[in-house]
Amino acid sequence: MARGDVLVPSAAGWYCPAGDFYIDPQRPVARAVITHAHADHARPGCSTYYCAAIGAPLLALRVGVRADIRPVAWREPLALGRTEISFHPSGHMLGAAQIRVAASDQVWVITGDHNYGAVDPSCDPFEVVRCDVFITESTFALPIFRWPDPAAVFADIHHWWRSCQQRGVTCVIPAYPLGKTQRLLASLDPACGPLAIEGSGADYLPTYRAARGGPGWDCERMTQADVARVKGRGLVLYSGAAARPAWWEQLAPYAVARASGWMATWKARRGGREPLARGFVLSDHADWPGLLASIDASGARRIGVTHGQVDAFVRHLRAAGFDAFGG
Ligand SMILES: [Zn+2]
Ligand SMILES: [Zn+2]
Repeated sequence: MARGDVLVPSAAGWYCPAGDFYIDPQRPVARAVITHAHADHARPGCSTYYCAAIGAPLLALRVGVRADIRPVAWREPLALGRTEISFHPSGHMLGAAQIRVAASDQVWVITGDHNYGAVDPSCDPFEVVRCDVFITESTFALPIFRWPDPAAVFADIHHWWRSCQQRGVTCVIPAYPLGKTQRLLASLDPACGPLAIEGSGADYLPTYRAARGGPGWDCERMTQADVARVKGRGLVLYSGAAARPAWWEQLAPYAVARASGWMATWKARRGGREPLARGFVLSDHADWPGLLASIDASGARRIGVTHGQVDAFVRHLRAAGFDAFGG
């Protein structure tokens, strides 16, 4: 890193000396600027949190409703120290933001987790923000990761669902409670059969309902009373922890499928606690072409890489002529 850098890596996360704040700090700090409410980005204990307004209720569920959370509207400039920051959608989940930091004639953007170019009705799409320095996540920054069109993936899921119904088999898709569960809910067709959410994914629905509307959102957290309605015809988004509810086996026979970017790899399709009926490639992170396109669109020549395949991506970007660094 060089003197005068707007953001610098530190033990607690990305720090902005000119604004005296951290982005997604990994331990309690005075001023935290949060990209999104996933647990690896938003931790409790900070004195003040700044986040995109639309995601503020989700952050409150993560860090505590008594936390000092300052919601900021998309694109609204906010002065912090000698900087001006703003929040711009990253397309990763509801309220997930890229943070633009302008200081001393430079503009830096840090993406948080992002899903450049994705079609995801549960959140705002990635917004291109031109900058001098672009710090991107790199979860799937390998050329093997190329996502199919989500519309085709959902057509496959619906086809699988119908074929299970014909055999009286309940469909189960384990899904991360915040983000993936709601993305699936937003795109699954409730006319195909009953939809249910088992586990904590239901806790986030009121916020999504208020922000996005949509046909599947009147789903409630599943209880034993729903078993008869769902068994053999329904699709259950399972977002619970390790312990399944006592009535779970009453859903049998059931088939389990996963929907994730990792399903693009053979190893992930084979792993897990039970044999998978299907693996659907559906990611909340950009694929390899998406990552490259997001860098191009930013206009930046200096690229920071974080959160994922850091070393490999830095090497690739340097070979392509960028001034790339890991952090
Ligand atoms: Zn995330
Ligand atoms: Zn993350």
